Amino acid sequence: MSTQPQAWSNCLDVVLKVAERCNLACPYCYYFYQENELHKTTPALMAEDTARDVAAFLRRGVQELGIQHLYIGLHGGEPLLQPKKRLDALCRTLRKELSDVTTVHIGMQTNGTRLDQEWVSILAEHQVSAGVSLDGPPHIHNASRPDHKGKGSYDATVRGLRLLQEGVRAGTNRATGILCVANPNHSGEEVVKHFVEDLGIDNFNILLPREGYDSEVWKPQSKWVNYFTEIIKYWQTTPKKVGKLVTIQLLSEIMGAMVAEPRAERLDFRRSTRHHIITISGDGKLSLDDNIIALDKALYDANTNVRNTTLAQFIGGPLFQQLVRAVDSTPEKCASCDWFRTCRSGELFNRYQKGSGFNQPSVFCETLDTIHTAIAAIVSRRENGVERLTQVLSRKPEIWARDFLKPVTLGPTELPLPEANSIRLPVVE
Ligand code: SF4
Repeated sequence: MSTQPQAWSNCLDVVLKVAERCNLACPYCYYFYQENELHKTTPALMAEDTARDVAAFLRRGVQELGIQHLYIGLHGGEPLLQPKKRLDALCRTLRKELSDVTTVHIGMQTNGTRLDQEWVSILAEHQVSAGVSLDGPPHIHNASRPDHKGKGSYDATVRGLRLLQEGVRAGTNRATGILCVANPNHSGEEVVKHFVEDLGIDNFNILLPREGYDSEVWKPQSKWVNYFTEIIKYWQTTPKKVGKLVTIQLLSEIMGAMVAEPRAERLDFRRSTRHHIITISGDGKLSLDDNIIALDKALYDANTNVRNTTLAQFIGGPLFQQLVRAVDSTPEKCASCDWFRTCRSGELFNRYQKGSGFNQPSVFCETLDTIHTAIAAIVSRRENGVERLTQVLSRKPEIWARDFLKPVTLGPTELPLPEANSIRLPVVE
C-alpha cells in the first residue's frame, strides 16, 4: 500500500507452453477446441534444449527492449504433466539466464489435479504463484472439467488446491488464485457461494468465454445478465455473511476504479497492456496471446520462432502491432458509452469477427452494461459517491497500448489492488 506516486515499469507477459497436452478434456477449452491447431504438431512436453533457446531469446529481447519485469506463466495444456525434475530444471534455467538482466516473476495456471506435496515444494522453491482452475461445486465443475474418460475432476482439483493453500498459510508458497469460467447454464450465486462459504476462498476471478462474433456462446445475453446479476447481489452481501470483503477481480477492479481516480488509472494501465503478451509453444514457435490465436488462423504465423526471430522483431511485426491498434481503437458505440473509461469495450477476444477484425463492441456489451450499471449504483450510494463516479467516468483514459515499454507513473492510492489472482502483479518501485 502506498500514498506515493508509483512508477510502473515496462513489462511483458510470456505464456510458456511447457506441456501441450492435458489430462482433462474441458469442452470449452480455447486452446484445444477452437481455431488454434498448434498443439497438433508440437511435442507434448517442452524439451530441455528448447527451454535453453527460449531463455536465450528472452535474455536478448529484454536487453534490447529494456524490459524490466518479465512475467513468465508456465502454461499448457497442463503444465504439471512435465516431469518434476524437468520443470524444476526449467525454472532454474529461466532464473539463471534472466535474473541479471530483468526481474523474473514466474506464475502457473494449473487444473490442480496433479498437485502433491512435492510439487508444492518445487513451486515454493521457485516462488511460482499458481492459479488453479475451478468452475464451482462438484456437479458444475465435474460437468465442465472432465478427464478424457468423462470422469469429473473436482475432488482431485480441490485436494491440490488445499495443499497449495497450506503452503501459502505456512508462508512458503506465493498467493494462490482461482480462475472460474462463467457458465450461465448454472446459478452464478451457487458458484460464488461455494467458493466463499464452502471453500473459504476470498479472492478469485470469473472469466468470460474467449469467443467473439463467430460463436453463438454469448446468446442470448439475458442468460449472462441474470448470471452476473446473481453474482453481484451475492457479492454485495459477503461482508455481512463472512465478515470480510471478497474480491472478484472482474467486479472489484471496476468498483475500485469507480471509487478513486488512482485506481481508475491502474485499470487504464491494465486494460491498455492486457495483450502485451507473447506465447511460446513447446517447440519454440512464437505467437500472440494464446487467447487471441484461438480466434482465427489468420492471427497466427507458424513460421515464427525463438530461433529465427528476435523479440523486438516480433513486437514490431504486423501481428503484434495489429493487436496494439485494436486495443487502442474505440468502436463507435463505445465512444459515447457512459462506461467507456472502466469498460474499454470489453475484452478484445469478445470483439473479434473473422473478416472485420476487432472494430466492434464486446459481444457481452449488454452484460457489461448491466455489470457497470449495478456497480455504479452501489458506488453512488456511498458518501460522495456520485461526485467520485462523475469525476472518473468523465475523464478519458490516458494510457494506451501504443505506449508499450514507456514507463508510466501513476498517482498514489491508499487502497490495495485486487490483483492476487492474476499471474501478473503490478510493479511498484
Ligand atoms: S458497455 Fe458496451 S458500449 Fe459500453 S464500453 Fe462496454 S462494450 Fe462498449
